Amino acid sequence: MTHGVHSRLAKQCLGTALNGARNMALIVQKYGGTSVGDVDRIKNVAKRIQKTREEGHSLVIVVSARSGVTNELIARAKAINDRPDTREMDMLLAIGEQETIALTAMALHAIGIPAVSYTGAQAGISTDRVFTKAKIQQINPKPILADLKAGKVVIVAGFQGINDEGQITTLGRGGSDLTAIALAAACKADKCEIYTDVDGVYTADPRIVKNAKKIEEISYDEMLELASLGSKVMQSRSVEFAKKYGVVFEVRSSFNHNPGTIVKEEVAYMEKVVVRGVALDKDQAKVVISNLPDKPSSAATIFKALADASINVDMIVQNVAHTGGVDLTFTVQRDDAANAVKVLPDVLKKLGGGEVKAFDNIAKLSVVGVGMRTHAGVAATLFTALGEAGINIQLIGTSEIKITVAVDRSRADQAQQAAHDVFGLGN
Ligand code: ADP
Ligand code: ASP
Ligand code: MG
Repeated sequence: MTHGVHSRLAKQCLGTALNGARNMALIVQKYGGTSVGDVDRIKNVAKRIQKTREEGHSLVIVVSARSGVTNELIARAKAINDRPDTREMDMLLAIGEQETIALTAMALHAIGIPAVSYTGAQAGISTDRVFTKAKIQQINPKPILADLKAGKVVIVAGFQGINDEGQITTLGRGGSDLTAIALAAACKADKCEIYTDVDGVYTADPRIVKNAKKIEEISYDEMLELASLGSKVMQSRSVEFAKKYGVVFEVRSSFNHNPGTIVKEEVAYMEKVVVRGVALDKDQAKVVISNLPDKPSSAATIFKALADASINVDMIVQNVAHTGGVDLTFTVQRDDAANAVKVLPDVLKKLGGGEVKAFDNIAKLSVVGVGMRTHAGVAATLFTALGEAGINIQLIGTSEIKITVAVDRSRADQAQQAAHDVFGLGN
């Protein structure tokens, strides 16, 4: 979506939707898979919508597929074909959300609320042509606006759009978050609320770290790092989008009325906290290439071959080997390890040597906080805590606001708890 389109849409949207109702806000609410997981939960969502509507607000609702449905569809596809065509995959995956939009509309009708369901295409969500991880390019809100104006609640299928050839696309796992944030940007909504099955964003996954604490406010950059380093509470691309278009949003629970976590632009006081939270990604692998010829093009050739095979590489370390060559070690997603081992031998042959081995028992632990920019000694504190817990660090990576270490997966939970404790994040 371009800036021009964004502001044009915003004006249309506000002008039309909120015409004549001074205190009325336009609110985008997104309900995740657990929140619409069964009939009773969908009825619960309808009641929450009813309450907000009775307060006088206009509502655009985004829903996910019932929890488990997208995974189930993927498993079914893979049982039939281990490399399913991506167009057909999107055709398949889009049905999960299509079920819940219709059921949510029916639940609203049952309590007397006018509502209409929209697929991504009907909601005017245009994407590029990259099936299974399409990017939103434009949103035409005219149909949504007309229905809001007519007093209806508009329910949009998350995670899907349509490309310029009229094909259904999906936005990557967790993509309903992106649908909600993009609609909030396009409509310049007054509020965007992401309802899930926990009370907000915590200092660590509250299902694993029992003393994790809810964070009241977090900056886009911190949320983005946590999301891309393994906290699945928000899809990372949705946070990137929110940052780009300045969409402030709140992560809340659909099962209670507690205040959630506000995600917004960084403000000065945020730097006072050194570490905001920790994230763990247990689905990592380590690839080690030993005795690689030490010449200028080696690394470039290797990483180009991996990129051509759509393998994303993360932490990279290069050492001089005893033999005069170099050892190159890097991490990849666990699913990509086998493919890396398949692709690399031919490349190494061309480079004149080197052996490749993959270890798929790796986890990546990260500590994140904008306060790291102004506080020294964070790495030393983390390494000491892991050392005292007897946990070996295999690789280290840093950026301005994060430190990541690769550890053995069997020690990952313990490493996460040690990091959480040493920075005093717990209750
Ligand atoms: P939804 O289906 O609503 O999109 P998700 O399952 O995608 O929900 O995300 C919510 C889950 O994210 C929580 O149940 C929690 O286990 C997990 N999670 C991981 N890290 C965090 C964190 N730092 N704070 C809150 N939840 C987290
Ligand atoms: N149903 C999709 C998924 O499971 C999108 C979403 O839930 O956000 O990834
Ligand atoms: Mg999610």
